[in-house]
Amino acid sequence: MSICTTCPYCGVGCGIKTDGIALQGDKQHPANAGRLCVKGSSVLETLGDQDRLLQPEVNGEVVSWDHALSEVADRFRRIVDEHGPDAVAFYVSGQLLTEDYYVANKLMKGFIGSANIDTNSRLCMSSAVVAHKRAFGEDVVPGCYEDLELADLVILTGSNTAWAHPIVYQRIAAAKQARPDMKVVVIDP
Ligand code: SF4
Repeated sequence: MSICTTCPYCGVGCGIKTDGIALQGDKQHPANAGRLCVKGSSVLETLGDQDRLLQPEVNGEVVSWDHALSEVADRFRRIVDEHGPDAVAFYVSGQLLTEDYYVANKLMKGFIGSANIDTNSRLCMSSAVVAHKRAFGEDVVPGCYEDLELADLVILTGSNTAWAHPIVYQRIAAAKQARPDMKVVVIDP
């Protein structure tokens, strides 16, 4: 049985159809219309668990989850007791869900007592937020993929789109080929 899902690798959000053994780009999906880049095409390679750490280890020794969690908690406790709550920090994944962020923030701000928590989603998005505010006055996403294909001028600033968001790049490249008057300007800061 084939299911429709989304490629997890970048923000383009390409649609995938897969039965767990083979996959293909979802032709009905508005982001990619059936295309997939090399990252999306290799998603199934991540299904195996042979290279994954399946049990917690402390100093290279396999231990129980209780032991590992106690180890982390004890060390946090010791550092906070000795040096105060600002001596510890969380750097949290951008792949967490909103509820997970809430719990992590609650733990750091509400219980440990420090504001030292940040995520790679802020690192990733802060430049976009600043750019949107300067350009449009607020943090909005003002366009869609079709707008990029219809634009007469596309400016890519600080983005290696071909590398980081290949399917958007392919869409822009195809639009440029269809309408050679379209201008694509790349600003590499
Ligand atoms: S551009 Fe590539 S990595 Fe990004 S969502 Fe599409 S298939 Fe995945």
